[in-house]
Amino acid sequence: MGKVTGFKEFERQDEAYKPVKDRVKNYKEFTVSLSEPELEKQGSRCMDCGIPFCHSGCPLGNLIPDFNHMVHQGEWQKASWILHSTNNFPEFTGRLCPAPCEKSCVLGIIEDPVSIENIEKNIVERAFKEGWIKPQPPKTRTGKTIAVVGSGPAGLAAAQQLNRAGHTVTVFERDDEVGGLLRYGIPNFKMEKEIIDRRIAILEAEGIIFKTNVNVGINYDVEDLKAFDSVVLCGGATERRSLPTPGIDADGVVQAMDFLTQQTKVLFGKKVENQVMATDKNVIVIGGGDTGSDCIGTSNRHGAKSVVNFEIMPKPPGHRSPTTPWPFWPLQLKTSSSHQEGVERNWLINTKEFVKDKNGKLTALKTVNVEWKMVPGERPQLIEIEGTEKTWPCDLALLALGFTGPESTLADKLGIKTDARSNYKAEYGKYQTNIPNIFTAGDMRRGQSLIVWAISEGREAARQVDLYLMGKSNLPSKDITGDLVAM
Ligand SMILES: Cc1cc2nc3c(=O)[nH]c(=O)nc-3n(C[C@H](O)[C@H](O)[C@H](O)COP(=O)(O)OP(=O)(O)OC[C@H]3O[C@@H](n4cnc5c(N)ncnc54)[C@H](O)[C@@H]3O)c2cc1C
Ligand code: SF4
Repeated sequence: MGKVTGFKEFERQDEAYKPVKDRVKNYKEFTVSLSEPELEKQGSRCMDCGIPFCHSGCPLGNLIPDFNHMVHQGEWQKASWILHSTNNFPEFTGRLCPAPCEKSCVLGIIEDPVSIENIEKNIVERAFKEGWIKPQPPKTRTGKTIAVVGSGPAGLAAAQQLNRAGHTVTVFERDDEVGGLLRYGIPNFKMEKEIIDRRIAILEAEGIIFKTNVNVGINYDVEDLKAFDSVVLCGGATERRSLPTPGIDADGVVQAMDFLTQQTKVLFGKKVENQVMATDKNVIVIGGGDTGSDCIGTSNRHGAKSVVNFEIMPKPPGHRSPTTPWPFWPLQLKTSSSHQEGVERNWLINTKEFVKDKNGKLTALKTVNVEWKMVPGERPQLIEIEGTEKTWPCDLALLALGFTGPESTLADKLGIKTDARSNYKAEYGKYQTNIPNIFTAGDMRRGQSLIVWAISEGREAARQVDLYLMGKSNLPSKDITGDLVAM
């Protein structure tokens, strides 16, 4: 513990944001970093708890009190070593994680929790700046070959771990760039894409082979995977949810992922025919999650006339609900930086019709207010409230309704069993499918989730693949600390 009284002396400080009027003019990140002395004070707020709940709150099992302590001591390189021993890509989680660690921080019971995520981001940024993050190619190769399908955070983490164990790893990605949803889902203003490129350069220098524009099962025969000793499927959960609502085919009803992907492609000079623009339009974003929030931020950057958000669930409480006490993940209203940039948020509202003109163009949405009837032992029932029908002028409706699960192509072609939710079936902790040398991790195995879980599953799956191929493994796991791999 750096400073016994740190948590009493210092208040939590978060990084500031640039003013809305400036940041919506471009697609750059807009956070303003704290100074190094301030960050060292923030590190000293950690109480080095006997039972650090932050550890178990983090799906990676990050060694949080240890790196907090090092930051407080000004030992940034040691902090980076500790951080990288459990997390391959803290620059992703340090920017984008909802930080379950902070929600379970013991200090959070009486005060604002330790600013763990921001400390994490600053450790890794300092490490890149100082040149401490260097390629670590394995000293010897095992002669085993592995194909990783999908280059999202799960695939990248699995690839880096397996390469470090000495296997020869090829990552196949159907997009034209590596990164999965980090590349074309999450907008540039949440994470600039140079952050991904910087890390990919390290992975390439370590010896990982990346093959883009390869859609396994479509333009690459699954039979060719048999040339590899093992395969790790990390294809994500990319089947988009839609609505069974009349008028859904109107010109102007657009899937959020199309909208977001197009914008990022255009930003990087890629050719996009007829980009969907929100400029001067009345935009309604349906869905109140992260994807909806990203659509709001992007619509404001396009210069939308108005931005409205619909969510079918009730408005969560402003503070942690008593139904989710510490250290659980709290049911609580989340206001993102994109929400702060301008949106009218509506809860308990259901879209009844997408109204179109005679040319099929969207002109309005008809809605009704709803309530949820809870009967113990029964599924919650959605009840429409009579007399609350409303028509909203709208030229662009963005469907941000999440994903129903992974695509079935690879499961069908490889004969992989799926579970009741259409996820690729592999026991948690084992990651092995019904075909012994084929493993799966990330959203493809667990359904739509978080970056931190994808990295965690990629790492754990890598260890299982290594055990399968070699009979033993030195790769670390959340449960078994192997030889920690220095960055
Ligand atoms: C808009 C949006 C915003 C989000 N924001 C956040 C956030 O702020 N914080 C957070 O923690 N999480 C966020 N998430 C969730 C997070 O991005 C995912 O949980 C995470 O990326 C899952 O990682 P993954 O590696 O399992 O899959 P993905 O990132 O989906 O990567 C899968 C990759 O596999 C490729 N692929 C699929 N099939 C094939 C094939 N047959 N051949 C070759 N390649 C294939 C895909 O093209 C894709 O690149 C967000 C998701 C979305 C959609
Ligand atoms: S729970 Fe909070 S205060 Fe305790 S060790 Fe973890 S970060 Fe520090």
